[in-house]
Amino acid sequence: MSDFQTFRYRLRLTGRLRLETALRVGSGLTDELSGTDIAVVKDAQRRPYIPGSSFKGALRAHIERLVRSVESEFGSGKGACNPMRDEERCIPSKPVDSRVSIEQLRRNFENNPSGLDDELYCLSCRVCRVFGSPWLASKVLVKDLLLAEPELWFDRRYQVRHGVGIERDSETASRGLLYDYEAVPAGTEFRWEIVIENADRERAEDGLVIWGLREFANGRVRLGGGRSRGLGWVTLTFDEYAEEVDATDRQALLDYLTTGRGRLVSHDEVLARAATFARMLAGEEG
Ligand SMILES: [Zn+2]
Repeated sequence: MSDFQTFRYRLRLTGRLRLETALRVGSGLTDELSGTDIAVVKDAQRRPYIPGSSFKGALRAHIERLVRSVESEFGSGKGACNPMRDEERCIPSKPVDSRVSIEQLRRNFENNPSGLDDELYCLSCRVCRVFGSPWLASKVLVKDLLLAEPELWFDRRYQVRHGVGIERDSETASRGLLYDYEAVPAGTEFRWEIVIENADRERAEDGLVIWGLREFANGRVRLGGGRSRGLGWVTLTFDEYAEEVDATDRQALLDYLTTGRGRLVSHDEVLARAATFARMLAGEEG
């Protein structure tokens, strides 16, 4: 089975994302790691979509906040570091406090690249292990969220809104900074698809992602610019089944290779994995 070392496990989750309030149209130049300013952008046909990297950033940022509320320390499989600031990463590029740097690790493992990969995984925080870091590949792939009913979209559904810029120094509204922007109206629905690859199921790494998605399902998350004006509330629903391929199970792998389809996982089973993760997180506290 050694040929399948790079593919051990895959879980494909799908569903819909519904805008409960309007979502602003932006430039799409969102930093994947920050996830603070997710917006919809337009495709070549001027139809709105949400870039997968943007949704992934928002999901990650939300999971980081939740994990930190339980585990304030980070590193070696615990907590959530701050991937936006090098000195606050679980593995910084230069030594910080007692944390070993990527520089040191690369020297230590000069002749042992696979040993380096294992060590990087080992030292990384709970969230980097799943969502990746500059040194570690992400296990989460988020496709662009396209309109659920593209045939129902027409261009004048974009709403034009008026914004007022705020002067940074005086924090007062400035006449010169009035601007218009477009928004996609409430009620618009997008399809989402997330693939989790090679998650360590004993550490409930799949459950961590589902746990974050569940918060979106409960309508507790806002996306997008213009948040102060009540834009960007979303709710997420899961499709009835997810699809799973466990390549470490010989029969399951043969079924997959024969039919091209994985095992169907019910919605209840999907949610149970979030609960498993939450229990693990709570149990390892302190
Ligand atoms: Zn980290």
